[in-house]
Amino acid sequence: MSRRIVFLALCVCLVAVGARGQAVVRTADPIKRGLKLTDFPRTLKVTDNVYTYEDFHSGDEKFTTTNMFVVTGDGVVVADGQGSVAQTKGLVDAIKKVTREPIKYVVICSDHGDHTAGNAAFPEGVTYLIHPTSKAILDRSAEASRYGRGGSGGSGGAWTVPANAILVSDRYSFKLGVESIDVFFLGRAHTGGDLSVAVPRQKILFLSETFLNCVFPAMRSAYPSEWLKALDKAEAMKADIYIAGHGFTESGPVSREELVAYHKALQAVIAEATRLHNRGVPVDEAIKQANWGEYATWTLASSQGPIAIRKIYDELDGKLK
Ligand SMILES: [Zn+2]
Repeated sequence: MSRRIVFLALCVCLVAVGARGQAVVRTADPIKRGLKLTDFPRTLKVTDNVYTYEDFHSGDEKFTTTNMFVVTGDGVVVADGQGSVAQTKGLVDAIKKVTREPIKYVVICSDHGDHTAGNAAFPEGVTYLIHPTSKAILDRSAEASRYGRGGSGGSGGAWTVPANAILVSDRYSFKLGVESIDVFFLGRAHTGGDLSVAVPRQKILFLSETFLNCVFPAMRSAYPSEWLKALDKAEAMKADIYIAGHGFTESGPVSREELVAYHKALQAVIAEATRLHNRGVPVDEAIKQANWGEYATWTLASSQGPIAIRKIYDELDGKLK
């Protein structure tokens, strides 16, 4: 992420009223949201037994990496970790403050380092669930770091996926305590091995990085047009509460609106890059010319815009396999 001067100009912010009647500012920026940096990390109660944990992503632009955990009565199911062992230890400690039940399952919804590099902090003996594509990526990364080539590209580093991890290539359902949990692969989106976790009894869907709430579409390892289809599927599931892997946890109706808003943002970014591509604008020139409109003020727009252009050009040129 490139160093960036703090942007203090007023942004045009939509204000919505959340479930408890308070206004929420539609942004991933904690300060614009009306929060203090010292409010984080924090645990939010989504329903009686479902929580999110939000801690800051590393880098100059402050926004949250968001995890979900479900207290089932017979153990805890966690969806995603944080970006360092210290931060994921913070998540584990936050879970201990809520329940004495042990963590039994950890679903690796995104294999990126900001969600996996802290996995060594999870207790030994937890069962991991992971998409085969993500397992292959993390295996390669662990292998590389053993030979001193790792540590770059935001990969999972030295942590190794345990041999008994459950591989989920399409769908996997299990019961634990009062909940049945559904783990879905909705298609290649942000990483290629993107998993989502549903708590169907409560119509909650944790989408991890398939849903970036008010964060500019980040495409370093994305599949742009397939990502749109994954969002179609997520919306068709008609959850009451959608939870993003980055950005704030929203109340039910707002969470759906923000998912739709993110979907529109992804469409707009793909449309803008496609417009430039169709006019024959070379990629380096397209990076300068791209007009992101209202999305230019979204978190990470300046660093992720050029990456998105390159990735969408690759897909249009048939270079994305
Ligand atoms: Zn991430």
